[in-house]
Amino acid sequence: MKVASVVGARPQFVKVAVVSRALREAGLLEVLVHTGQHYDPGLSEVFFQELDIPPPDYHLGIGGGTHGENTGRMIEAIERVLLEERPDWVLVYGDTDSTLAGAIAAVKLHIPVAHVEAGLRSFNWRMPEEINRVLTDHASDLLFAPSETAVKNLVREGIDVERIKLVGDVMYDAALYYGAKAERESRILERLGLRPKEYLLATVHRAENTDDPERLGAILEALALLHREIPVVFPVHPRTRKRARAFGLERFFKELLALDPVGYLDMLMLEKNARLIATDSGGVQKEAFFFRVPCAILREETEWPELVELGWCTLVPPQDKEAVRYGLTAIQGALGREGTPYGEGRAGTAVAFYLLHQGVP
Ligand code: UDP
Repeated sequence: MKVASVVGARPQFVKVAVVSRALREAGLLEVLVHTGQHYDPGLSEVFFQELDIPPPDYHLGIGGGTHGENTGRMIEAIERVLLEERPDWVLVYGDTDSTLAGAIAAVKLHIPVAHVEAGLRSFNWRMPEEINRVLTDHASDLLFAPSETAVKNLVREGIDVERIKLVGDVMYDAALYYGAKAERESRILERLGLRPKEYLLATVHRAENTDDPERLGAILEALALLHREIPVVFPVHPRTRKRARAFGLERFFKELLALDPVGYLDMLMLEKNARLIATDSGGVQKEAFFFRVPCAILREETEWPELVELGWCTLVPPQDKEAVRYGLTAIQGALGREGTPYGEGRAGTAVAFYLLHQGVP
């Protein structure tokens, strides 16, 4: 059986690393398509090296445009690959333009689509990710849900339960596997002169925070103020750097421990040892929980409500700098309850199992 995986952005490299390994172990043949959505080497190449992902069979080189431009060009290019390769399944991951483009290209060619990380909802239709998720789920034949909440969301939208498989979160598999590797190989704490539990870690890249000068300013200023008391480590996403420059907010980077994006192993090491994490990233908020580090989610809502229910994460909408500063100060040391809402770390194997045994619909 031949499976084509379509990826393009940083979080998808983490997900495909897990699934790709499981597919190989199950004896499935995988064709890897990289759309090029993230083309910065710090967001792409380093992940292929560190996570031992096989080099892409196709690199489409599509990135840097608007949502419409990128998605359209990706559909066209992916369609060509699929016509050439004729896979039995197309696997898409998460919620980016690459996800949607892969799903549309495949479903129109009547090639079955499987969506890894199906059923997540923010119920915020202004988010490009929410549009990508909903449309991809409804184009998919097999929906791999990471949580019971995700299953319920899909059932509520009328998706046939037979097509939904609760497998757990592949990012948990990744955090366990590569977390151990990070302990052995990462030297980031020594390099930055950081001591465990004596720094905060922050990331920001969502459009709702970076495209709005008020919100981005509130976050950066609050982090800079906190940095006077405790180091704030801030790996800066290229999009965030670009927007900060355009809005005249770049000066705050000098008042923080601002870094270029770090590799996955260094990131896991920074997360494990942080006193607190502040983020608008879907992946990072979960990794905070996997490592039992309190986390402020710099948003109004989350697709991972279990994190808030268990008490490990707190929503801190970045409306102004005081809200951010107060929120982050209040939750330092706030531990949550135990729970395993995202499975046991074997989601990748479950995905491979269902693809093998489901047959082609
Ligand atoms: N990440 C990383 N280096 C960084 C920032 C994030 O390796 O400098 C990892 C992080 O550990 C997580 C993934 O990238 O596994 C999350 O990606 P991102 O925040 O870009 O996207 P999201 O999860 O919000 O879709």
